[in-house]
Amino acid sequence: MGGRQYPWVLASVPWSDATAFTRGTHLGLPLVSWGIAPRDLVATRRQLRAMGLRPNGQEPVAYLYFYCRRAGKKVFAELFLISKSAPHRPATPAQHTAIAKANLAKRICRTCGRDAGYVVPLETRQCTDCWLAEQSTPEPMAA
Ligand SMILES: [Zn+2]
Repeated sequence: MGGRQYPWVLASVPWSDATAFTRGTHLGLPLVSWGIAPRDLVATRRQLRAMGLRPNGQEPVAYLYFYCRRAGKKVFAELFLISKSAPHRPATPAQHTAIAKANLAKRICRTCGRDAGYVVPLETRQCTDCWLAEQSTPEPMAA
């Protein structure tokens, strides 16, 4: 491996009144490695989501770094205080209706006006049938 090492640094951390061992700082925030951060106090965005929480507009308090096997590199994840997070609001019925309407609009062919049953291409806004019909009909030449 070699390369840059992260030395242990005793520092004050946002999730505790006492100092804790960190791996220095990253972008001005304490940097911790996997297993250091107390899992009951801080969490990544993904972990919050899994707990039905959201960061609630708070800034990240630290960074967690770990080796991502899939990406083949070190990854930095933002850590948020669980105590400052809020429950994730489920969409209201009105929002669901709006989303459903928007999705339906994306499936309507502008030529035949029917629900194509799939999202029609943004460029043509046509279902495959209408698009093919138009392709086989030569456009009248402009004089
Ligand atoms: Zn059509």
